[in-house]
Amino acid sequence: MNHTPTPAVLPATLRPSACPGLLRIVPARDGGICRITLPCGELRAPEALAIADAARQHGSGVIEATNRSNLQIRGVRAGHETALVERLLEAGLGPRGGAEATDGMSASARDDVRNLMTSPLAGRDSHALIDTTPLAAQILALLQGTPRFAGLSPKFALLLDGGERLARLDHPHDIWLAAMPDGARVRFAFGLAGCPPVAGSDAALTPALAAVEPSEVPELVCALLDTFLELAFPDDTRMRNLLATHSSDTILERVERRVNFTLLRRQSVRAWRRVPADASFRLGAHPQNADGLWHVGGQPPLGRMDSPMLHGLAELASESGNATVRMTPWQGVLLPDIEPQAVSGALERLASLGLACEPADPLTRVIACAGSTGCAKGNTDTKADARALAARLPERVEVHLSGCPRSCAAAHCAPYTLLAVAPLRYDLYRRDGTPGFGQCIAHHLTIEQAADSLERLARSPLDA
Ligand code: SF4
Repeated sequence: MNHTPTPAVLPATLRPSACPGLLRIVPARDGGICRITLPCGELRAPEALAIADAARQHGSGVIEATNRSNLQIRGVRAGHETALVERLLEAGLGPRGGAEATDGMSASARDDVRNLMTSPLAGRDSHALIDTTPLAAQILALLQGTPRFAGLSPKFALLLDGGERLARLDHPHDIWLAAMPDGARVRFAFGLAGCPPVAGSDAALTPALAAVEPSEVPELVCALLDTFLELAFPDDTRMRNLLATHSSDTILERVERRVNFTLLRRQSVRAWRRVPADASFRLGAHPQNADGLWHVGGQPPLGRMDSPMLHGLAELASESGNATVRMTPWQGVLLPDIEPQAVSGALERLASLGLACEPADPLTRVIACAGSTGCAKGNTDTKADARALAARLPERVEVHLSGCPRSCAAAHCAPYTLLAVAPLRYDLYRRDGTPGFGQCIAHHLTIEQAADSLERLARSPLDA
């Protein structure tokens, strides 16, 4: 070790953020961006209505679903920022405790730190090993109620996986916790700066470091965060930065000194592999758990809604479901608790609102960042190109269009990525297990040429 550890508590100002938040509207080419963090992706119908109205009154009317199950209002007009924030806070969309500082923690810090992802089916899937919703509520309260956690970057992210069939497992998280069967009981395996190891995955797997009892999870999270803050330097905003200078053993030893239980660090935990999830449960209608109810899901084209679409979703959730909308990390929506007799009508309504609900619909397999119409870094209009590509996309092919190498639309590596290198020109990458977008297999393609290449690849995956 070359450095002396920094003090245990880092002031939040040491890690200033340019990320949008509810109280931090960030300028973009198409106006301000206001990001609304939703606890575990859940949005109550009145909150959805408030967002739909506020987006129209104070922004361009575009509401974007993010790949962390949140929403952002785009095109916020100059001079409307305060009114927009007030409207959203009034609707109850801010952090716990509202706009005031509580326990010495600013509202903005409490908003930033709520970065916990769960399955959109949490508490609704009989195949899950555990209902994570009570634990998730405890962790969110802990994050927002502990002033020293204001020192975390808004990008610092946690995953709590209950073993649901629908789960996004390929987004790297600073801390991940995943339910693991252990005989008749359930424990939580955990790891740092990565993803749970999934059985049969073609990605490089990093085994779990250790496991704990479900009741020990909040204390473990607290100890992991305190250890990060103790050891990290101001520039080390993510767990991967810390792991570049400290071994996971060092981190676990410090964690063990902080907790009142023993971390289970045996071979069976390292050998554990998570059962693969199935992303098809995000689309169409599916039975939930044993309660006889169903959920329906769909995809707003390219992750973007307008005010009438969000209004319609809120009304549909109130009339046919439990008056909540769950956002998914596929930039989609899921409405839970639909009575069997209302399922087909609900699906028809989703489709009439403009959501893609069938896996065969190419718009469920294309993602694109804001591109040059919304972002100064964009080399081309990725949204328009994505629509043109969708019209020619071969069956089952999934593709990501990125306006520059920052990859804002995808935290995962898509099977194919089109990286814009100039207006209307893209390099084509194929996922091959290496970091980044994978292997570059063609340069400077038009969208028509990209569609032709993807067609050939779909017929013969090894032939570019
Ligand atoms: S990937 Fe690049 S072009 Fe696209 S939104 Fe992000 S920064 Fe902008």
